[in-house]
Amino acid sequence: MTRGNNNKNVFRPNNPEPGFDVIVIGAGHAGCEAALAASRMGCRTLLLSLNLDMVAFMACNPSLGGPGKGHLVKEIDALGGEMPRVADRNILQARMLNTGKGPAVQALRAQINKWGYQRAMRIALEKEPALTLREDMAEEIITGEGQIKGIIGRSGAFYPARTVIICSGVYLGARLFLGDLHFAAAPGSLTPSYNLAKSLQELGITLDRFKTGTPPRVYRRSIDFSTLEKVPGDSEAQGFSISSKKTSSDQFSCWMAYTNPDTHEIIRKNFDQAPIYSGLIKGAGPRYCPSIEDKVVRFSERDRHPIFIEPEGPDIEEMYLQGISTGLPPDVQESFLRTIKGLENVKIMRPAYAIEYDYAPPTQLKISLETRAVQGLFLAGQINGTTGYEEAAAQGLIAGINAALLLKSEEPLVLKRSEAYIGVMIDDLVTRGIQEPYRIFTSRGEYRLLLRQDNADLRLTEKSWSIGLIDEERYRLHLEKKIFIEEELARLEKTRHNPGSAIETFLGKHHSSTPKQPISALELIRRPEINYPAYLEWENKDLPELPPGTIKELENQIKYAGYIAKQGLAVEKTARMHDKRIPDDFDYQKAKNISTEARQKLEQVRPATIGQASRMEGVTPADLSVLILYLERPDILKSMLKDSPDSTGNGERTND
Ligand SMILES: Cc1cc2nc3c(=O)[nH]c(=O)nc-3n(C[C@H](O)[C@H](O)[C@H](O)COP(=O)(O)OP(=O)(O)OC[C@H]3O[C@@H](n4cnc5c(N)ncnc54)[C@H](O)[C@@H]3O)c2cc1C
Repeated sequence: MTRGNNNKNVFRPNNPEPGFDVIVIGAGHAGCEAALAASRMGCRTLLLSLNLDMVAFMACNPSLGGPGKGHLVKEIDALGGEMPRVADRNILQARMLNTGKGPAVQALRAQINKWGYQRAMRIALEKEPALTLREDMAEEIITGEGQIKGIIGRSGAFYPARTVIICSGVYLGARLFLGDLHFAAAPGSLTPSYNLAKSLQELGITLDRFKTGTPPRVYRRSIDFSTLEKVPGDSEAQGFSISSKKTSSDQFSCWMAYTNPDTHEIIRKNFDQAPIYSGLIKGAGPRYCPSIEDKVVRFSERDRHPIFIEPEGPDIEEMYLQGISTGLPPDVQESFLRTIKGLENVKIMRPAYAIEYDYAPPTQLKISLETRAVQGLFLAGQINGTTGYEEAAAQGLIAGINAALLLKSEEPLVLKRSEAYIGVMIDDLVTRGIQEPYRIFTSRGEYRLLLRQDNADLRLTEKSWSIGLIDEERYRLHLEKKIFIEEELARLEKTRHNPGSAIETFLGKHHSSTPKQPISALELIRRPEINYPAYLEWENKDLPELPPGTIKELENQIKYAGYIAKQGLAVEKTARMHDKRIPDDFDYQKAKNISTEARQKLEQVRPATIGQASRMEGVTPADLSVLILYLERPDILKSMLKDSPDSTGNGERTND
């Protein structure tokens, strides 16, 4: 099958150098997407990983999606990534979240069969003809003349390559904590990676420390479900990928339990054994995903915290306790769990643990995810300080694409903040930097109404098609959705209904008022009481068989047209403003109305445009508006340049 319309093979014919175009280190969520993208774009790719039985391992909760993260998965699908398709074949339970809220925050969340997911991803990797899988630990990155030459593995093998993508997750310098016991180990009890961390530092990459943790996993048969709240899946479950058929409605349930004052008392009494409080762990952890110790301290007024009890597979005993990650010792874990209704006799299968690891602060990266220090070296996933499978997969996909584009001497794929949450995330990482593990939230995007999960495909598929990443069938589905929506919008706008008994009966049935003037079908469906399927039924037409998400997106475009258009205008206005250039010789010391902190940072970074300045940490909207004012008035701007006499005297803002 051909892929896209740009399927140039990057490997020159009769290439005298044996070796790979791209080596991906690490077969986690970032690594799998990076390797698949690069190989599907025609690169000879090697995926090197510590243990090939642990491909796409879900170290924490086997669930994908939710607001922000679900949007990422839909975008990965539109860009030709594998995660959504593999997930859809392994859904245990799917729920559309926030259905009572606007379309910007509605998102699919799915509980995944952990082992099925790993197996399906492994099969997808094995099927790719240009991709070689190899079990080895990467120890050293070899460079010469500022370029990548290859990788040396623990086995002693040298793997020559022209680009390298590091997707080593939490494995660099990893230390595991079980109460006050700590030892060098990575998730799944694998060996942590020390030499690779050293090699990165020798190449000029700075590393820092973060921490994260897991909750305990328990035996299903040790839970008393009769006293717990049941959380069923949706009756009509949907999947993440436009290529997936509807998933089964035969779903597994999740359950809810709550901590109580007795639970909190045991946790408090054992604080001295919690590594984060005893000072054993120094790295910052995710504030928005606190351990139960943190919750007890930070929300001391609350006498209960919810716990979701979720299956890890259809036929295995292991159950995941979401919301109760901890670094306390296993015996303390068991005793506080047994204070909880439904868990009185609980038996732990896999104790909770905390982990501390190296990450590379992402401000060292270009927006393409290539490092500034070494040409052809890319970093993706948790090594960039993010947390989450979806965040990792999205970065892996972009790094894989950009490594392939670099080898083809083409411009990198850079997604704007107004185009994708992937663009929001990467821009946040490389421009603003991070102080704690980064995860995506819809609130991080300023154009939320444009970045809906249902239009991810319309926003991004043309891009993946033009770089040759998706196949014809995937592109055909996109066109089917796009063309149907365009044609149906035009038809509904043209279809007009006169006041009269026919429309009165239809609207009366939906408790909607009768119009006094002729009304278009589009205006009818824009009413909150009327939806598109109801209108179609009244027209006596059947709902056509369409790619998933098409009807929902059509309705969004009808019902929210005004808001969407307004946000589109805001994007254009901001783009115009953001493209405004700042002269190289702008003298920030003269710009006294900009705060001292912002002036110092602007002086140091010297952003080329207002857009770049706007994304810098420490530059506030107020600083920006003063800067824009300086730039927009030629007389003031002249006085702000270096070597120019300060005509306004002191650079103070004038009132006119
Ligand atoms: C304890 C824990 C708790 C977590 N909790 C949450 C949570 O609550 N919420 C959330 O969203 N996410 C959580 N995560 C994060 C999520 O698991 C990761 O963000 C995600 O798996 C990162 O994907 P990745 O591809 O970057 O790395 P990983 O999935 O970790 O994969 C790294 C891969 O690199 C390989 N590797 C490493 N070094 C080398 C080397 N030198 N040579 C060859 N191969 C190498 C490993 O074998 C592995 O295959 C947690 C992770 C951990 C470990």
